[in-house]
Amino acid sequence: MISAALVDLVRCPDCTAPLDRAGSAPAMMCTACRRTFDLSRGYLDLRPSTTFAEQTKYLEHELHADARHEAIAPPVLGSRIRNDMLRRFLRPGPGDRIVDLGCGNGRAIVWNAATGAAVLGVDISPYFAPEAIEHADLILGDLRRLPLASEQFDKAWSLDVLEHLSEPALIEMLREANRVLVPGGALFVYTHVRQNGWPAAGVRAVNRLASLCERLGLIDLRQERLRKSDHVNPLVDHAHLRRVAADCGFEVERITYYSPVVGAFFENVVARMVERWMSRRAARRLPAAAATDAAAGVREARRSAQARVRRGGLLYWSLRGATALMKLDLLLFGRVPTGPFFALLRKPHSPPGGAS
Ligand SMILES: [Zn+2]
Repeated sequence: MISAALVDLVRCPDCTAPLDRAGSAPAMMCTACRRTFDLSRGYLDLRPSTTFAEQTKYLEHELHADARHEAIAPPVLGSRIRNDMLRRFLRPGPGDRIVDLGCGNGRAIVWNAATGAAVLGVDISPYFAPEAIEHADLILGDLRRLPLASEQFDKAWSLDVLEHLSEPALIEMLREANRVLVPGGALFVYTHVRQNGWPAAGVRAVNRLASLCERLGLIDLRQERLRKSDHVNPLVDHAHLRRVAADCGFEVERITYYSPVVGAFFENVVARMVERWMSRRAARRLPAAAATDAAAGVREARRSAQARVRRGGLLYWSLRGATALMKLDLLLFGRVPTGPFFALLRKPHSPPGGAS
């Protein structure tokens, strides 16, 4: 959607001037450089006219071939853990204006709509879910040059995004996040540093089991590998995180580490087995012409699984049960420093060591 409030929040990605409606056309226009921006697809295209050399693989269609982005089911497994942590750390509520940095298909915005917060999503890939387009303000834009006015957002979140950026790009992105937050505002992130703690051995053991299952033809991890192939992993360790955060005007206020030992078992082994079983069943139901296309089976299975999760039946409650068990990872290892983590970065009320 394109809300009335959006006009005041957006800025030209090229010259940072405010935008205005472009007459009766489904577009906005820069009040200074007169560049027009399309909004005919239900979201606003505010990509800068000069593209950066560093681009994410998420722009490639291949990564979206499983059509994961098309529908939004209630969060379960890892995405439920992330969303529950987001709620616990950031406490989105009525009156909050929030920006989702790297919103993907917009699912976290849809999941948190009931909190009453006004959430705007920004992503460089135009793979938004129709449901998100219908209910949320979405912007196609680069996180390194946020087309947003300064100090207009109380909070921000960024899930599974930082690891896709190089260190210079990460710094540009965090500085932009800092700029658009009000003083005292907070950014919740879920990402990882390269240095792991001892519980990671458990995660590696589970992943070896997953590889074995794949060799035995029980699961298929190709799409997962494709997704991870875009990881740049700019942060070395947690000291590095604190340095980068401070460089960009943030204090690391709170952190919980995440060693998904139980999580990897459910997500990388059990869920993948169920998915494979469902996709084979779905492929048998497809017309003969489509059945030769393995990806069609996966897409169909995903659609059917998402529909079942939405209906809240046995599959949904089994997944919720598994999610509850996955919370053991936070309970047991949440204080043991390791690669993956949830953190709240705070923009101080006055700049650190600042005069004035
Ligand atoms: Zn302009």
